[in-house]
Amino acid sequence: MANENLIEIKNLVTHYITDDGVVEAVNGINLSIKKGESLGLVGETGAGKTTTALSILRLVPDPPGKIISGEIIYNGEDLLKKPIKEMRKIRGGQISMIFQDPMTALNPILTVGEQIAEVVRQHNDVTRAESHQRAVEMLEMVGIQGERAHEYPHQFSGGMKQRVVIAIALACNPHFLIADEPTTALDVTIQAQVLEMISELQKKLGTSMMLITHDLGVVAETCEQVAVMYAGEIVEYGTLEHIFNHTSHPYTEGLFGSIPSLDKSVTRLKPIKGLMPDPSNLPSGCSFHPRCEYATDLCAERCPVDTEIEPGHIVRCLKFEDGRHGEW
Ligand code: SF4
Repeated sequence: MANENLIEIKNLVTHYITDDGVVEAVNGINLSIKKGESLGLVGETGAGKTTTALSILRLVPDPPGKIISGEIIYNGEDLLKKPIKEMRKIRGGQISMIFQDPMTALNPILTVGEQIAEVVRQHNDVTRAESHQRAVEMLEMVGIQGERAHEYPHQFSGGMKQRVVIAIALACNPHFLIADEPTTALDVTIQAQVLEMISELQKKLGTSMMLITHDLGVVAETCEQVAVMYAGEIVEYGTLEHIFNHTSHPYTEGLFGSIPSLDKSVTRLKPIKGLMPDPSNLPSGCSFHPRCEYATDLCAERCPVDTEIEPGHIVRCLKFEDGRHGEW
């Protein structure tokens, strides 16, 4: 059953309806994650990555946020149709999330042990003593001495706090873990350690993972599947091999062009010109056309649809439609 999808997102549309207009944060995304697999969701700030994660957990603040349409099939059932009471049981138990900033994710007035134990009690029928025993085990699993369970968050460094957050997220053996830029708030020196730890634990526990990041290097180290997101859409989707070795969408090409490489000698990096469009005023046609070096008049008129250019490798670009195979 290793190839079975644990989660499948179909045509998800999530908007924020504000007095100043409609912010089209997520615009019809499709993706699936198999059991035990890890997917990297990559894109610039404002691409809609976090809104996608919050939609899965049904945590989009409403108002102003609204899931307009789509399906999120988890274990064969649509999460968008579940009563809120059932969603509460799923969150933190079967699906959990590691947020960007450990400073805000932890409660400063509770010991770290109590914060882990609380989650364990919420989702399992256990005594206080058993939940505290589990908290100690979880701390040890993330490389913190068990006796530190009675300490408060301020007694830990940034990297250690993020380990505590990871321990909380994994305490109930979730089937699906969403890690939203889990190392952004940490020192560069410990980012690699924390990522490696998440990856090891994910594999050891057989958890599926969606890793949200703007860093392709992090994806290369950690994920098997990659989805590149731009202006609320997934513009390229495939295996690590597809995205890194058969890069096809002009935006993905631009992302690779703007990072330094040890193999190539270049005098200047080539950033993608322009900025991510305002999601409350998206360009007509392909949202990437004002920044795309291959854009033609057609790109401003017609919205591209998903094209499977090789098995499992999907690109949303007109250059690949109507049998064009990437050539105009
Ligand atoms: Fe560029 Fe046109 Fe493809 Fe959009 S559809 S990515 S503008 S070539």
